Parts: sequence; structure tokens; C-alpha cells
Amino acid sequence: MEQRKAGKKTSRKTGKASVRPSQSGRSAFSKKKKTKKDRVRERNFHVFLFLAGFFVVLCISGFFLYRGYRERQQQEWQRVVSEQESESGAEQWQAEGAPYIDVQLLTPNEYSRPQIPIEQIKYIAIHYTANPGAGAMDNRNYFENLATTHETKVSSHFVVGLNGEVVQCIPTSEMSYATNERNVDTLSIECCHVDETGAFNEMTYDSVVKLTAWLCTRFGLTEENVIRHYDVTGKNCPKYYVENPEAWEQMKADIAAQIQEDYILQENL
Ligand SMILES: [Zn+2]
Repeated sequence: MEQRKAGKKTSRKTGKASVRPSQSGRSAFSKKKKTKKDRVRERNFHVFLFLAGFFVVLCISGFFLYRGYRERQQQEWQRVVSEQESESGAEQWQAEGAPYIDVQLLTPNEYSRPQIPIEQIKYIAIHYTANPGAGAMDNRNYFENLATTHETKVSSHFVVGLNGEVVQCIPTSEMSYATNERNVDTLSIECCHVDETGAFNEMTYDSVVKLTAWLCTRFGLTEENVIRHYDVTGKNCPKYYVENPEAWEQMKADIAAQIQEDYILQENL
């Protein structure tokens, strides 16, 4: 009796009894139900696997596409900026009274070149590197490497070397990390020095005076807008010109004289 009941099943749709192959009792019936469930489960699992795989592939390809896009954007941006900076060119700047400027812009990165625009330039700040004997490119490369070392956030628009060479690291339209709360409206110049006194040698001194004066004429400033890092935060920087205020006054006087010379040069261009 049991067996017959199990073997016959009434179709809900047709109301007709359908005869199924004889299977043994309730256990067979529930086993059959379980199999169907399993199949559904299996199918769902496959769908899940497929969707998960699809999602992973989507994420990976999205990541690479985005990275490629960012890289292309950065390259394009760098190309535009270097063209802008060399538009008038080092020769033109020299004719206007600047020392030779080697434009070696840093790769944009949040540790040394965050690409934050400077709205208005109000000051030019003089610093010393606190790293006796290191050259301009050494300092520039230190800033560049911060993009990978993440050691600290520091940089400068210009570095003046021991032979008077000038390396530009950041366009004057962007902020550097050098002068604390004055970063927002200040161009920064790091100066190399031979020894612990922090005094600039003659070549470095002449170059920083020329560079600062030329920047003053370019941005409508005077020697009164030339400051030391010390004037902003009280830091002993540039060391020699904080410890010897008369040397600082002399530098400002030399910058003022050079500004006058530059204006005459520029009028005659
Ligand atoms: Zn400083």
C-alpha cells in the first residue's frame, strides 16, 4: 500500500495520476526532493561563481584601465607644464636678468609636488639645505624620491647649488612644501652650503641674489617681500643669515640693487 502511494502521484496541473518508477517508500521520495534542491543549489553556486569571477575580472581590468588613464593624464600634464615653463626659455630669462635655470620638475606626488595652485605670490623665502656639501641636483632628487619613500612632506620651487647652478623643481604656479603657513603665497628657494656655518659661498650667493631679484621683477615684488624661513616660524633657517642679521640686511640690499638692474635690462629688451 505504501509503495503504491509512493509510486503514484497526482499531477496538480492535469489532475491525472502519473505513474512513476517504483521507488522504496518515503525515504525515496524525500531523497528525490533533496536531489532537486541540490541541483538548484548547484546551479545557484555556479551562477554565483560566474558572477564572482566576472566581478573580479571587471575590477582588475577597471584598475588597469584607470591606471593607464591616470598615467596618460599625468604625462600629458607634465608635457604641458614643461612647455609652459620653457616657453620663454632659459635664454629669455637670462636676458631678463635671471641666472641659468635648469628646469627639472618633480613628478607630481603628494609628498613633494602636490599640484596645489598658488593663487597669488606675495613673498619669496630663502632657506638653507642644512645638508653641507650636497648639490642642487642631490636636493632635487631627494624631493623626487619622497614620492616613493613617503619619509616626509618637503620640497622647494628652486634649489641653488654650490656652483651657482639653479634647478627648478616646481612650477611657480604651484605650491611647494617649504615655508609652513606661508606655502600658500610664497615661492621657496633652497640654498646649498659648504659647511656647518650655513654661509653661502660666492657662487651660490650671487646666483640666489640674481634669481630672487628676477622673481621679484616677474611677480611685481620688492626686496621687502623677500623673507627668511625664520621670519615665518622662528626656525634657524637660513642659519648663517639668522645668526648674522647684518649679512641678511646686506643680502636684501644686494637683491634691491639687482632688481634695479633687471628693470633696466627688461626695459631695453
Ligand atoms: Zn627653511
